[in-house]
Amino acid sequence: MASLRLRDLPALHRALTEPDVEALLRHYPQDLVHDALREALSALRKRVQAGEIVSPQEAQPATLAARARDALAWLERPSLRGVLNATGVVVHTNLGRAPLAAAAAKAAHEAAARYVDLEYDLEAGARGSRQDHLEPLICRLTGAEAAVVVNNNAAAVLLVLATLARGREVVISRGELVEIGGSFRIPDVMAESGAVLREVGTTNRTHLKDYRSAIMPETAAILRVHPSNFRQVGFTARVRGEELAAVAKEAGVLFLEDLGSGAILPIGDEPTVRDVLESGADVVTMSGDKLVGGPQAGLVLGRRDLIERLRGAPLYRVLRPDKMTVAALAETIRLYLRGEAATVPVYAMLTADPRVLRRRAQALRRRLLRLGVESDLVPLSGRAGGGAMPESPLASFGVALRAGPPDALHERLRGGDPAVVGRIEDDRVVLDVRTLLPQEDAPLARAVAAACAAVRQS
Ligand SMILES: *Cc1c(COP(=O)(O)O)cnc(C)c1O
Repeated sequence: MASLRLRDLPALHRALTEPDVEALLRHYPQDLVHDALREALSALRKRVQAGEIVSPQEAQPATLAARARDALAWLERPSLRGVLNATGVVVHTNLGRAPLAAAAAKAAHEAAARYVDLEYDLEAGARGSRQDHLEPLICRLTGAEAAVVVNNNAAAVLLVLATLARGREVVISRGELVEIGGSFRIPDVMAESGAVLREVGTTNRTHLKDYRSAIMPETAAILRVHPSNFRQVGFTARVRGEELAAVAKEAGVLFLEDLGSGAILPIGDEPTVRDVLESGADVVTMSGDKLVGGPQAGLVLGRRDLIERLRGAPLYRVLRPDKMTVAALAETIRLYLRGEAATVPVYAMLTADPRVLRRRAQALRRRLLRLGVESDLVPLSGRAGGGAMPESPLASFGVALRAGPPDALHERLRGGDPAVVGRIEDDRVVLDVRTLLPQEDAPLARAVAAACAAVRQS
């Protein structure tokens, strides 16, 4: 077959006048089309120079235009791709943590594309606060006296320490100097806030007397941090919140608790927000998108006078949430208040009955079989994730795919549309049904069938 020579390649300016290219120009800005064409031509040139046989067809304007169109496809694709989470990890930080309840997503969507009364009191015709949309709901739900919401829980901890303890000491147990992941480390956040870390106790045991003897005139607060993503076992001692609250009160310092995940309703062995507030904490910080199952946010709950100081702090302005977050969080909390927590996906997934999951996995297995994919029903052990219940595996069910090799199949699954992320166990790809949304079984089965077919062919 005759190969193209360099001089057979069309010049860019000539290619631009071809009808196929003109069609592209009507659709995309000129410089993007130029760049895409230039790259398509340069790729051809390189192949010719490398001595490859390149058919004349490939230098046709229609072919070049098609190449350019492919190259411009990224402009049409959304940046975030949908993922079917078959990992069994409910609050999966890499996969965006909590999928919102439909009502919460709708509220965010509606707030996004229009003007809303975010900071405007429609009755008074005067300026309002975005926090007024959230505070009464949060207080009603948790029993807190006051509340303020910021961008995430890391921001909440920073705001609390910087505003209430800058330049003064904060007493914390050596067993609670935790790293949450994604570079949130208590000592680092403390340093960033300008508060001075005062460690007490030992790694495994800290007693009330350790706290007591550490409190000095320069002490601003005692901080208790929830061991979110680990548990200590063996010869350990941790002081209860009630006792710390009493010591703090007696010494005239604040008692702060970073709860992290923050369960609204009882879930596993996680303390509920209400219990922690009732134990006497002056300020509690927690995430909106962990066990609450709302949007990314940090909730600060507690004493009215302290929350007012946080709201007035310069740093608050840097950390405040946007209107979509306000809308989604308010709606999520309303779902809890209305007794509709079962419609909050994270809550539903965390409390799913293993017998129901088993039936669902069976149905998925049959669905896959109808598409020619063989699999086995397998018991699995899921996790809450997001720094909650690290030692309480969630008894779950799923399917183990018989097609292999597992790494190649998993790669195909991740590259599919929608992408599927599962786990590899005992040399097989396993898909846990716990973390699939109710409407995702059918698209999952189709994506798995397509990936299995692709692996078989390669
Ligand atoms: C998760 C967590 C944080 C950080 O919260 P983000 O919402 O991820 O910013 C801080 N403290 C504790 C104890 C946590 O579990």
